[in-house]
Amino acid sequence: MKRILLFFLVALSFGTTCQSKGIRFADFFRDSTLRINYYREGCKMHDTVLLAQYILKHGGWAGSTTQLLDPFDNGAYRIVVKELQHGKEIYSRTYNTIFKEYCDTPEGKDQVVRYEEVMNIPFPKVAVEIQMQRRDSNEQFATQAVFSFDPANTATTVVASNPYYTLQQKGNPHSKMDVVIVPEGYGAANAEKMRNDFEKFKKYLLGQEPFNGRRSDFNVYGVIAYGEESGITDPNKNIFVKSAVGSSYNTFGSDRYLMTFQLFKLHDLLDGIPCDHIIIMANSDTYGGGAIYNFYAMSSLNKMANMILPHELGHSIGGLADEYVDEDLSYGDIHTANTEPIEPNITTLVDFKSKWADMVPRKTPIPTPDNNEVGRFENGPIGAYEGAGYHSKGIYRPVMHCMMRDYAPFCPVCSKRLNEVFDLYTR
Ligand SMILES: [Zn+2]
Repeated sequence: MKRILLFFLVALSFGTTCQSKGIRFADFFRDSTLRINYYREGCKMHDTVLLAQYILKHGGWAGSTTQLLDPFDNGAYRIVVKELQHGKEIYSRTYNTIFKEYCDTPEGKDQVVRYEEVMNIPFPKVAVEIQMQRRDSNEQFATQAVFSFDPANTATTVVASNPYYTLQQKGNPHSKMDVVIVPEGYGAANAEKMRNDFEKFKKYLLGQEPFNGRRSDFNVYGVIAYGEESGITDPNKNIFVKSAVGSSYNTFGSDRYLMTFQLFKLHDLLDGIPCDHIIIMANSDTYGGGAIYNFYAMSSLNKMANMILPHELGHSIGGLADEYVDEDLSYGDIHTANTEPIEPNITTLVDFKSKWADMVPRKTPIPTPDNNEVGRFENGPIGAYEGAGYHSKGIYRPVMHCMMRDYAPFCPVCSKRLNEVFDLYTR
């Protein structure tokens, strides 16, 4: 008996050691990118995902070859790649979509739409299943659809690569944050303006902490792409423009909400360029922008763009929530009082320990009273200040002022998460 038990123990510990060694990129992937074009169709009641096309992207894999599994429990969706032989998880990423925002609009309740979505994964060397997951009613990820991919049998297509400027090159894409700026609303006559605007946007991208302190961790590229006309569609002003990726103000009825739904076209423009994160640079002076976690960030060239862009990158790169109050945007049930929100920088205090409780100085009262005496961008101690996630009551933020609230510098909680995300691409 003892001998059998010993054997079991040895086998058990051997198994554990193997697992903790992690996933060797070269065992499962080649240094290329598999782009997955798919549709999400439905409304708040129900949605489904449908595979459109597999595309072999030109150029190498831009992401890390060591940080293959997503460590963050963020976003409403997750893509999980499993090799078929042992069912081992070899890649995952969490993200959000514009469809999710649609579901929180009045139309989204019951009117069915079909939106384009794109995910990039390292190109599998072995047969895999690709699980498309979303959170269930208990906020746990559940598989919604499975796409299969076998490099020996599955057809992939290619699209034409685009010319681009290298605005900053600091090293191998595997260990850098590769950010691509996509110009939107530039006609062929705007070539010089586009080149100058790329430099502006690069400055805005790297201008704020913690981005500035980690500027050598970034490669930055600018795609050379023109629309048929210049300018940005703004339905409220009766302006309709044939731009490169069809962006528009007044998304979901909000004047300043500037977004595009043309994800396939957007990603076509990125072919041949290493890309971890997308910035869409909109050629317009009108205030506006928008961003979604691991989807894209967009800002116009308004005079506030040096602040709008970092705020939007807080969403698209950090997966951070807005810390401001806007009851018009609160649609009632985005964040409900009985559950802890998913985003790292807001809390309902239902499970504050899972958030930044460990960063709060001792004896700080929770909730923390506002000290209105201090100046505009002066913050009290880290605590839990009421008013965040669009709601004036029941949701709390880490300090009084932050980039995610009022364009103050990123607060310590938001900075910490952004640095953790940078690490995911640079290690
Ligand atoms: Zn913050």
